[in-house]
Amino acid sequence: MSESHQDIRDAVRALCAEFPPEYHRKVDAERGYPDAFVEALTKAGWMAALIPEEYGGSGLGLTEASVIMEEINRSGGNSGACHGQMYNMGTLLRHGSDAQKQKYLPRIAAGELRLQSMGVTEPTTGTDTTKIKTKAEKRGDKYVINGQKVWISRVQHSDLMILLARTTPLADVTKKSRGMSIFIVDLRDAIGNGLEVKPIPNMVNHETNELFFDNLEIPAENLIGEEGMGFKYILDGLNAERALIAAECIGDGYWFIEKVTEYAKTREVFGRPIGQNQGVQFPIAEAHIEIEAANLMRFEACRLFDAGEPCGAQANMAKYLAAKASWEAANACIQFHGGFGFAAEYDVERKFRETRLYQVAPISTNLILSYVAEHVLGLPRSF
Ligand SMILES: Cc1cc2nc3c(=O)[nH]c(=O)nc-3n(C[C@H](O)[C@H](O)[C@H](O)COP(=O)(O)OP(=O)(O)OC[C@H]3O[C@@H](n4cnc5c(N)ncnc54)[C@H](O)[C@@H]3O)c2cc1C
Repeated sequence: MSESHQDIRDAVRALCAEFPPEYHRKVDAERGYPDAFVEALTKAGWMAALIPEEYGGSGLGLTEASVIMEEINRSGGNSGACHGQMYNMGTLLRHGSDAQKQKYLPRIAAGELRLQSMGVTEPTTGTDTTKIKTKAEKRGDKYVINGQKVWISRVQHSDLMILLARTTPLADVTKKSRGMSIFIVDLRDAIGNGLEVKPIPNMVNHETNELFFDNLEIPAENLIGEEGMGFKYILDGLNAERALIAAECIGDGYWFIEKVTEYAKTREVFGRPIGQNQGVQFPIAEAHIEIEAANLMRFEACRLFDAGEPCGAQANMAKYLAAKASWEAANACIQFHGGFGFAAEYDVERKFRETRLYQVAPISTNLILSYVAEHVLGLPRSF
């Protein structure tokens, strides 16, 4: 596989073309999982893009991974079904031991194992992550996990999950970001043996769940990195996630712009194409400009991440700009399709729902503004 972005785009685009809009529409209507699509991506090696070549992967960077995700969304698909493997990979690569990498990476690269889930969010603490209550207690050569998570995605379509849990009570740490640790949970062993999974029906066709941990035992060797440092480790993964989601929003944005531009050229009302009216042109042009600008920040965030440089500000800003731009493109697209925008067969309403999610997850717009205000501009901390 060539490392040139255009080559990657062309190859992913060709694969995606085998899964036309009817495929994604059917999966959405049935609230199913795009098994065949994810299988094809895995077989072609795209789901192993970030795994180093020595472990059987392609050894590509986040920039290339983001191109893969962008192309999936731009083709009319939804990377949400499989993007977890991309951002979870960084956590294992950067902080996992050699033994953990040897154990998991070759099998993930071969498509025998899926690392699609990350369990962070909890029902009672929400975005205030350092207050999480799920705890992992070390007992001999095991950790025993108790607690609850919510909105944990792709658990039913993954073999492994990265889990964030408290290993030292909040009251006993000097810094609230300390005392949390990350673990690899083998879902195949865990489900039914201390882990209960309850699906959450939701607005998007996104497989996401409540998780209940009741004395789940996992081997102590499944701890990633040093105990108590998990929050720091997971921030890397979250930055990767934000840059990838930004790329997905860019893909969505281009999809909406292409779709609405084509429609506005051909739909005739009052004896002329609706796209001849500036009231129709301007919101589309505005969304296009914003997508192009957001795209630059997305590539900057990826570049910094791949160079191992701090990228929190850029990853957050890229996600903010791209999610906002794709949402504006979605609004223009549905608006200028008139009634047809609401018909499932046009795919606009489906993509509209899908891109709306990114105003809230994986981090809400307000929390990004708060991050930039405090960490970039140095304004007083508000919480
Ligand atoms: C479909 C879906 C899939 C998801 N998948 C995963 C997953 O796989 N793993 C995982 O760990 N999590 C997952 N999440 C959770 C997601 O990351 C959270 O929903 C998101 O971070 C927001 O947290 P919350 O829902 O607890 O909202 P809250 O923290 O309860 O916030 C609610 C609202 O209040 C606002 N708000 C809160 N505090 C402030 C403040 N101080 N100032 C201004 N505004 C504020 C927020 O902006 C937000 O809009 C998923 C969520 C969804 C909907």
